[in-house]
Formats: sequence, C-alpha cells, structure tokens
Amino acid sequence: MVTPELSQAGRLRSVPLITLHLTERCNSRCVSCDYWRHGRDDLTLESVSRLLPSLHELGTRAVLISGGEPLLHAQWAQIAQLLREQRLQLWLLTSGLSLAKHAARAAELFQSITVSLDGTDRRMYAAIRGLDAFDKVCAGIRAARRSGSLLSARVTVQRSNYNALPAFVTLARELGVQQVSFLAADVRNSHAFGRTNDINAGIALQASDLPRFEETLRRMEQEHAEAFRSGFIAESPAKLHRLLEYYRALCGLGPFPAVRCNAPEFSAVLEATGRVSPCFFIAGPSAPVASDFEAALNSEAMLTLRRDIRAGRRPECATCVCSLWRDVSHVSRLSLGDHRP
Ligand code: SF4
Ligand code: SF4
Repeated sequence: MVTPELSQAGRLRSVPLITLHLTERCNSRCVSCDYWRHGRDDLTLESVSRLLPSLHELGTRAVLISGGEPLLHAQWAQIAQLLREQRLQLWLLTSGLSLAKHAARAAELFQSITVSLDGTDRRMYAAIRGLDAFDKVCAGIRAARRSGSLLSARVTVQRSNYNALPAFVTLARELGVQQVSFLAADVRNSHAFGRTNDINAGIALQASDLPRFEETLRRMEQEHAEAFRSGFIAESPAKLHRLLEYYRALCGLGPFPAVRCNAPEFSAVLEATGRVSPCFFIAGPSAPVASDFEAALNSEAMLTLRRDIRAGRRPECATCVCSLWRDVSHVSRLSLGDHRP
C-alpha cells in the first residue's frame, strides 16, 4: 500500500478513492440535468482494464460507480466484477430505475448502493425526475434490500420537495434503507450535470420559501431527533442548516456557507469521455487519458488545477454543495462507510 503523500510539486502518489462515470447516458429526465438529453459516451471494459495497474500503484481502495445511469452500461457487471477481483470496494450511485431487475447481481458486486430519491410520492418524484417512476424506484430499493444490499437514499433538496424533509426520513425507514442524506441542488455549476443552458429558476428555493424551509428544518430536529442521533440521517442538524444558508446566499441574502474541501488530494473522477477531473464539479483537461492514469493525474494541467483549488482560486469551490475534507495523513484507511454521499 502506498502511503498517502503529496510530493512537494503537488503530485498525487496515493488516490484511495476513484469515481468512474460509466456512461453519460441516463434513463431519468431530471429537471436539473442535461445528460439525459445529449449524453452519449461510455467507458469501455478495456479502458477500465487499462486503469488497473495505475489503481494498484496509487493504492486505490474504493471506487464509486456513477454516471449518467451506470446500470444502463451494457457491461456494468463485467466492469464491477473486474474491479472486485482487484479487491476494490465498490459503491454504486443509481437512479434506481432498473434496480429491481438487477438487484441480485448488484448485491453481489457492490458493498454499498445509493439511490437518488427526490420525491416522497408519485407527483413530487415526477416533478423533479421527469418520470412517473416513484413506485418503480421504491420497488427497486425493496428488491435490493431483499437481496441483502446495504442501501442509502439521497435526496437533492430543492423547491419542489423542501417541505417534505421529515416525510423523506419516514419513507426511508419504510423502505428499509440504512441511511438517508440530503444535499442542496447545485445550480451554479454547469459542468457537473452536463448542462448546456442556465438552470431553470424553479429548482432553487426563492426568498419567499426560506421561512418555511427554516421551519421544516426545525420540525426535522423535533420529529426525527433519534434519526439524527443514530446517524440514520447522515447530516447533523447544523450541516442541514447549511442548505438554508446556501439557498439564502443564492437569493442574495447572505454569504455562501464556508467550504473546506481537499477531495482532489485523495480522489479523482474518470468521466465517460475518458477525461480525468479533480472532482465532480471541476472539469479536467479535455484530452482523454491515454493509457497511464497516474501520468494523467499528474499532468501539468492537473497539477495547475489542484494548485488553484488549494489556493482558493476556483469559483466553483465558493458555492460548492458537496465539499469534502479528509485528513490526508489518514486517507489510506478510507472506506465506503467514511465517504457518505
Ligand atoms: S441528475 Fe443523474 S439521474 Fe438525473 S438525469 Fe442527470 S445523470 Fe440522470
Ligand atoms: S469544493 Fe467542490 S468544487 Fe471545490 S474541489 Fe471540492 S468538490 Fe470540487
């Protein structure tokens, strides 16, 4: 195992966590995302095979399999199998639309599965995800549970669902998942969701929503105090309060919550186009990784990007909804349980 360490020049010598976007294609129709409109590219089994020596050299321990919708990739199971054979921990991030069909195989291959569940009923789900598929996703979660998967539900909090936060916790319990987490809808960064136009203003909370959202958060603390205590809700009440601060800032009513993040120092993203990026929100060099992933991670362009991120020169960081900080001297022990979405 390589000790996590940055050389003086900022080269990454250890990357415990890699995200693979298996495909840009998606079977959801989310209002906040354009991948489903124009996404075409897939990673190939061969391109993932070529990564393996670098992952070994970099001491990679965990791989987040994402997309687009990864279960649309014709070879998702072969790719996951290949990675499992390297003793990597696998975490699947899915819309859940085809989870019922793939539940048994997914349970064999992934140590952890996170399903995006943005509605508590058919109407709310359809308004956000663009499909009348609430029942299908719930059926997928139940099937995965029956197959023995460790599951979490992830809710992107936005204008159509912010009032339902306590109901999400109740629904998550009914569905039998191990945890539910909440994050704000990213409306500032077009790269993360392949957006080609400005995001629809109907997603972010408006000033008139803020008092009601504050009240909803208060109600969450009262009604679900035990869920906070036990960790069933992944965030603390204080962390959830940052969602309110974020939407307040978008309305011009306060500063964005302070961000502390060193994700690019211990993780990286390989996109379906073959491009490597320092994180989900900041695009890396446009040229695809040729064969040597480690060399691509430490190219001049990536060194410059990470230097700019560390120095606070990237505007994406100031408004980021998913920052992550880990003690770099301990990240070699990173496991999926530490890296909740
Ligand atoms: S946000 Fe995710 S699930 Fe929704 S359309 Fe985009 S890639 Fe698909
Ligand atoms: S704060 Fe967000 S945008 Fe900046 S490096 Fe971290 S994950 Fe990327």
